[in-house]
Amino acid sequence: MAGSLQLWKKTRIAIERGYVANGIPVLPVVADGTYAKRSYKTGSYSSLSGMAVIVGFYTREVFFISVRNQYCSICAYAERNGKEIRVHICYKNWNGSAGSMETDIISEGFRSSIELYRVIFCTHIADGDCSVYNILFKIRPYPDRTVVKIECRNHVLRNYANKLKEIATNGQLQHINLRKILAGSILRMRTAIVSSVRHWKSHTSYSELEQLRNFREDALNAPRHIFGDHSGCQKYFCTGKEEKIIIPELRESGILSLIEDVKNRCILNNARSLLKDADSNSPEQFNNIVAKFVGGKRINYCLRRSYRGRSPAAVVAYNTRRPLYKLHKFMYKFSPGKYTKTLENKRSSLKHRNKPKKYVRKITTYSSKSSRFPFESDYGPQSQKPDMTLQPS
Ligand SMILES: [Zn+2]
Ligand SMILES: [Zn+2]
Repeated sequence: MAGSLQLWKKTRIAIERGYVANGIPVLPVVADGTYAKRSYKTGSYSSLSGMAVIVGFYTREVFFISVRNQYCSICAYAERNGKEIRVHICYKNWNGSAGSMETDIISEGFRSSIELYRVIFCTHIADGDCSVYNILFKIRPYPDRTVVKIECRNHVLRNYANKLKEIATNGQLQHINLRKILAGSILRMRTAIVSSVRHWKSHTSYSELEQLRNFREDALNAPRHIFGDHSGCQKYFCTGKEEKIIIPELRESGILSLIEDVKNRCILNNARSLLKDADSNSPEQFNNIVAKFVGGKRINYCLRRSYRGRSPAAVVAYNTRRPLYKLHKFMYKFSPGKYTKTLENKRSSLKHRNKPKKYVRKITTYSSKSSRFPFESDYGPQSQKPDMTLQPS
């Protein structure tokens, strides 16, 4: 994966902007893993193969990839039949649990970043579903620098909404009307957090600490604002419209304390990460390409080298966007024929065309309506009027 032009450019920018530690450029990265077998939220992580990638946050290119296999069909056959293992290239390289594959690969990527690219991965953006950061904290890949962890914004907000939904659908709590109101307010509660982040992030003149303090105050006040009590709201935050205050009922039922608990765990604990406003979308997009290469995880490709071969193929497709052209050029040292080029160009233009357009809310205002009708000088409020200013006689 070496020799990336994008990485080279970003490294140069990092040096120019002074993001350098001991003469080595520092770059933020996003890391995530994927498995060859689905677990369907059951928690049974028994995949025979697993893979993880480290993707540049700005470059959106895969910097590091590795695969762990805990099965080799030739070794397994010999073991099963009590025969001697014949000479073969063995792709089994993992004896631990499936869950620890991701941690091992990502920590290996951090350890080898200086050797491979001569850069330091200073910030680790992750979705918070594995213990990578604990290991990074223990092994300290860079002796004089601690890697900073940032939780993915989308995952934090999704967890927040899911936990609130659990409260709203928990029948044991009774108070069905209050739970219904909560269920209908989940999106507003999420929006309140997103708006506050956007507001304080735009205040670049404030220090990071001030932004954090103000955001935490907003987050603390958010449930009161949503359930009608606007006494503690900031002016930019809300206009204080009159609503029925249901805070006392929520407090009495015990639901408010549960909401506060979820807010503390999901939002306040991750306030610093939320203000960074970073997401782990790039490895998720890459995992999507891997799923295409492994046939949507329907076929077991973990018996020998299939999974290991398909994962780097997905990296070529993700990094180059023109895999056939790049592979041909690399292998034969000349460009492929016109049909291959046409095919890839068609694919990329189709992808571009089918890209979902960003939704922009249409706001019909008086001025926008009037702009649809050009300036009418003969009729309407814009009509020409005679100059009636009094002239001295
Ligand atoms: Zn083997
Ligand atoms: Zn309010």
